[in-house]
Amino acid sequence: MGLLDRFKKIKEGLSRTRTNFVDKISKIITGKTKIDDELIDEIEEALLSADVGYTATEKIVGDIRARVKAEGYEDSQVLRVLLKEEIAKYLIEADGAEQVRSTPHIIMIVGVNGVGKTTTVGKLAYNLRNDGKKVLIAAADTFRAAANEQLKIWADRAGVDIVQQQPGTDPGAVAYDAVSAAKSRGIDVVLIDTAGRLHTKTNLMEELKKIRRVVQKVIPEAPHEVFLVLDAVTGQNGLVQARQFLDAAGVTGIVLTKLDGTAKGGIVVAINQELSLPVKYIGVGEGIDDLQPFDRKTFVDALFSEQNSHD
Ligand code: GDP
Ligand code: MG
Repeated sequence: MGLLDRFKKIKEGLSRTRTNFVDKISKIITGKTKIDDELIDEIEEALLSADVGYTATEKIVGDIRARVKAEGYEDSQVLRVLLKEEIAKYLIEADGAEQVRSTPHIIMIVGVNGVGKTTTVGKLAYNLRNDGKKVLIAAADTFRAAANEQLKIWADRAGVDIVQQQPGTDPGAVAYDAVSAAKSRGIDVVLIDTAGRLHTKTNLMEELKKIRRVVQKVIPEAPHEVFLVLDAVTGQNGLVQARQFLDAAGVTGIVLTKLDGTAKGGIVVAINQELSLPVKYIGVGEGIDDLQPFDRKTFVDALFSEQNSHD
């Protein structure tokens, strides 16, 4: 996908957020030509309502007030520029596409049920394959019978191989098989899909730790990445859930799904600030080409770009 198509996808994916947040900002700014405290308070409210989160909002607004004072801005139009710069400042730069340094590169995908893990595995497999990588998917969500079928459909769509076993098999065993197979078959990237909830008494965090340990028996430095998938629609609640995973699963980055389904895309800023983790990818739809590498410049440009075009 070319850069322009990518930008368009992200822009479309952010259209609800743009309508909620950027249109609100425009109204605030057009309503008053001169900057005053009240105007900045209104911007603060707009940030909070877009789920930017309290911590990041305080920082952004604090900086804006300081800059207005220091640089002597009066015209309210300048706030649009300041806001864009400040939001970008508090976003963590992610390196986008996967940096595969040694092969096989192992990526574990974790998160609660329904956030979009399996879909993300399929989309990521597709992206990596288009990038010329040999990809193998491991079906380590062995707790639901339907999980295998769903993942197999994604693997077929992406045109990559899958390692799966009977439902109920130990997830660690599936991961072990997949990583061993990847080593012997010269695979570049292994994507391990995991369960979000267990129907047995086993604790999910313990199960994830076990998968890690088993994978490390084959490749000591694996998994090279652990992506925690968060659903943008759940907003701040998702952040509370997220903390549980951070230590147990050794999360290295976030995949934020369903941005297209929320008006609160500001959650990206909250994630960066409150979890101190980069957002590596964003999901902007249900299609196989709807997972986009996160890039902060593209993100703010898409967020603040002109009104939705319907072409
Ligand atoms: P899992 O339980 O974490 O594996 O979640 P699934 O991958 O099964 O996804 C749950 C639902 O979320 C499915 O209906 C997906 O189509 C949907 N979904 C996943 N990512 C996105 C996204 O970026 N945008 C939208 N609109 N839906 C998504
Ligand atoms: Mg799943």
